[in-house]
Amino acid sequence: MQITQLTAFDLLDQIKKRQLTARDAVEAFLKQIDKHEKTIGALITVLPEYARERADQIDQMLADGRDAGPLAGLPIIIKDNLCTQFAKTTCASKILIDYQPPYNAHVVEQLEKAGAIIIAKANLDEFAMGSSTENSGIKTTRNPWSTDCVPGGSSGGSAAAVAARMAPVSLGTDTGGSIRLPAAFCGISGLKPTYGRVSRYGLVAYGSSLDQIGPLGADARDIALVMNVISGHDARDTTSVPESISPKPDYLTKLDTPLKGLRIGIVKEYQSSDGIDPQIVAAIDQATKLYEQMGAQLVEVSLPHTQYAVACYYLVATAEASSNLARYDGVHFGYRTPNPEDYIDVYSSSRAEGFGDEVKRRIMLGTYALSAGYYDAYYLKALKVRMMIRQDFEKAFEQADIICAPVAPTTAFRVGEKTSDPLTMYLSDIFTISANLAGIPGISIPAGFSRDSLPIGLQLLGNYFDESTILQAAWQYQQHTDFHRQIPAGFIEQ
Ligand code: GLN
Repeated sequence: MQITQLTAFDLLDQIKKRQLTARDAVEAFLKQIDKHEKTIGALITVLPEYARERADQIDQMLADGRDAGPLAGLPIIIKDNLCTQFAKTTCASKILIDYQPPYNAHVVEQLEKAGAIIIAKANLDEFAMGSSTENSGIKTTRNPWSTDCVPGGSSGGSAAAVAARMAPVSLGTDTGGSIRLPAAFCGISGLKPTYGRVSRYGLVAYGSSLDQIGPLGADARDIALVMNVISGHDARDTTSVPESISPKPDYLTKLDTPLKGLRIGIVKEYQSSDGIDPQIVAAIDQATKLYEQMGAQLVEVSLPHTQYAVACYYLVATAEASSNLARYDGVHFGYRTPNPEDYIDVYSSSRAEGFGDEVKRRIMLGTYALSAGYYDAYYLKALKVRMMIRQDFEKAFEQADIICAPVAPTTAFRVGEKTSDPLTMYLSDIFTISANLAGIPGISIPAGFSRDSLPIGLQLLGNYFDESTILQAAWQYQQHTDFHRQIPAGFIEQ
């Protein structure tokens, strides 16, 4: 099998057995990038020299018989809102176009300590605001399954890159679905961990109480491998959960445990939601039937506040964003307007010229929701609704071990189809944002194809800090299906 088609697990195995060097792996993926980046546009920065140098160091360590870490030689691509000292971190925004951070994000440190090799930084919706990657201030990313379609967002670059096999795995971030939605649109797997499981230190903040970093890859086992490295307590993120409260498990150990007796919740309110593509409904039905055959038991659960989730999310997320983005003032970070009239103009023109339309829309919405006269009516009310949504899940997880749901109401839509109507775009997140409001983990895995050959995703939601069970359910499903093994035509290396 060609190197670029290998899963991370198999690639690491071959490197460990010295059947393949880290340098071979890096060269193969760099070649794939060279060949396809022009059509896909998944990447903002490619790091060939850096990657080659790291690969040679790792090969040397292995040749010397030293332990080079659990991910030794594994090429990985990370979303460009994760700080890297060795490469620019743009957030796909003009305002940070030349920004080179003075430090590495926690996840970057962890990956490098484990021997992984960061080969590129991926495109995203500007500051992770969007569902299609069309809000990038740098480029448009295309879906490898159909280049007329979006890859989903906001981690569209990270997802498209894995689907096009530019790397076996990548990192994305998920504030309202931004790992799970692009994973679904691009036919790969993607996990949003529990809030607090992975340190956000060095992740450029969007909605701080919602943001989580997570892996994307072909299958659940590749995701477990990366989770083992990036998760765990970090004192530099005060919301990072200490080991004493929730010890970090080995995510690989439970994968092969049979599902017998697992209670799978089917959400009553999702059954009646209109506007969902019947092909997606059919794929989810088939998946739940397969789970029953595997020994799982289906139970109906209710999430009665589902209908308020989108409104609640767009108040909380924009409120937090408006505050987080106040730091881009033309003085502290990034872009500054060239000829300001006075010091007020430094702020206003730098921001006016540096931010894109969607970011401005959200800053205005968030500032409005937080302003003195409207705080109680909007922001405070949204916080109360958020608590109810959280309680809905707590109740549901008394009856079910995991919840099975769609990821999005449609498959990948066409580039440009929703850009003129932000509200329709916001509705793409209807099945994903509740998990962020509640803080629970969720994974999206490939579960079929539509008539026009676009991937369909299946979402599995888990209880707090129970990533192991959704990874197990995902992996068991993948033992009985082969949707996750499909690579879009044209991306299989000859
Ligand atoms: N589409 C959602 C938004 O625009 C989610 C984005 C995300 O998860 N980063 O806010």
